Amino acid sequence: MRDYKRLISYLEQYNISLSDELISRLDTYYDMMIETNKYLNLTAITEFDEVLIKHYIDSVSIIRDIDLTKDLSVIDVGTGAGFPGMVLKIVFPSIKLTLFDSLQKRLNFLNDVIDSLRLDGIATCHGRAEEAGHLPDMREKYDLCVSRAVANLPVLSELCLPFVKVGGKFISYKSDKGSDELALSKHALDILGGEAVKEDIFTLDGNDMVRNLIIIDKIRECPKSYPRKPGTPSKKPL
Ligand code: SAM
Repeated sequence: MRDYKRLISYLEQYNISLSDELISRLDTYYDMMIETNKYLNLTAITEFDEVLIKHYIDSVSIIRDIDLTKDLSVIDVGTGAGFPGMVLKIVFPSIKLTLFDSLQKRLNFLNDVIDSLRLDGIATCHGRAEEAGHLPDMREKYDLCVSRAVANLPVLSELCLPFVKVGGKFISYKSDKGSDELALSKHALDILGGEAVKEDIFTLDGNDMVRNLIIIDKIRECPKSYPRKPGTPSKKPL
């Protein structure tokens, strides 16, 4: 098994211990990702130490702001190769997770990972967020929506907030551009029923890239006309 000390000690700071079984799942996930990446574009980051920091530790970094040891229903919008969602599910098996993406081939890879690791309480879902956000069994049904590297925050808020229950949270994984994006999102959040409550700005150990977790509370129901039809949120951001 590869050396997961960095992740183990990161989690220990938050009193979370990672069993050998969970580490071995992360290791199998890494193997499968590298293998599949030979013929399907999943990630530009492939070297193990970099994956450990930029994918695995980055994904779990929201433990700074939310307790994931509870039985939360979570959706990862635009999960791609499974970041942050798949890492969160492996490290916090009690969450109920939907991995959502518009590219079926990436979801096929994630289904293979789910089968190999025999995970339960996890499902993939294919579609455009602009459409799925109107489905009765998905709209305003999740305690938490997470998303990384999918769209600018004004656009992303329209894709993500419709999935979140009133009283739930949307956490957007951003970089040093996060504050500027948030400044442009005030109008969108107001319309969509969101309220930004915190920007958590930090760097990850062993990496000087700035990370900004933007925490948005869902304080009101989202009007029925949102999200708008596929493509409109990015063409005409709120
Ligand atoms: N979140 C992953 C990460 O951080 O590595 C993947 C990021 S990748 C750059 C963006 C992903 O979002 C792609 O897999 C794409 O298919 C998906 N995506 C983009 N727009 C979407 C939409 N409107 N609905 C659903 N998925 C979308």
